[in-house]
Amino acid sequence: MYDYGECHVCGKQMKERRVKQDLWVKGKLILIEGVPAGVCPQCGERVVKADVGLRIAALIEDSRQLRKVRTIRVPVIRFAREIA
Ligand SMILES: [Zn+2]
Repeated sequence: MYDYGECHVCGKQMKERRVKQDLWVKGKLILIEGVPAGVCPQCGERVVKADVGLRIAALIEDSRQLRKVRTIRVPVIRFAREIA
């Protein structure tokens, strides 16, 4: 298993987990499941290895991939202006 080292925020040892990575691509929100990442058990900070980052970039570059995916609906909530 890859050693993600210590969390750069709080110093705890990172643990490898499979996570959902969300990212915006050309105005569309894309969710990638099963991404191996280092997750901090204390503060929740996440890091991905450089090669995983490159794989993600390659996945979203490949438009054939995007045509065969399933789509989910997500609720959108606007943060109240008077609180901000
Ligand atoms: Zn942490």
